[in-house]
Amino acid sequence: MIVFDLQCGNAHVFEAWFGSSSDYESQRARGLIACPLCDDASIAKAVMAPAVAAKGNRRDVAAPAREPAALASGGTAEPMAALLKAQRAMEAQSDYVGGRFAAEARAIHDSGEARAIHGEATVTEARALIEDGIGVLPLPFRPLARSDA
Ligand SMILES: [Zn+2]
Repeated sequence: MIVFDLQCGNAHVFEAWFGSSSDYESQRARGLIACPLCDDASIAKAVMAPAVAAKGNRRDVAAPAREPAALASGGTAEPMAALLKAQRAMEAQSDYVGGRFAAEARAIHDSGEARAIHGEATVTEARALIEDGIGVLPLPFRPLARSDA
């Protein structure tokens, strides 16, 4: 399997998986690939921004080209882009705690501390937090910072 970042005629960038590079070429030639946002079938490979990571730094470096174009231009025409923008703003204002999310959320709740965090929790953990009156919200997108990178 091979993953390509593709771009439609309306400059939306999205990921798609193919069996091989020639699978991509033949599917594209037959108009079988369409943009998930606007259904445009004029698809080309997106130009990727180089991702630079310091040695020993396992955390992903965000590649701006992977964000929808509507986000880069500040437009709100795309509901998904607006949602993504809202999540990224939230991420910037809260601490990423990875898999320690449930434990950290309880610690904050117990101490009465005013601090925002985001991270990963299982459905069971999230349900237990909500049952204990601790405010948690699911995120629509994967956070930029993540423990499994
Ligand atoms: Zn599109």
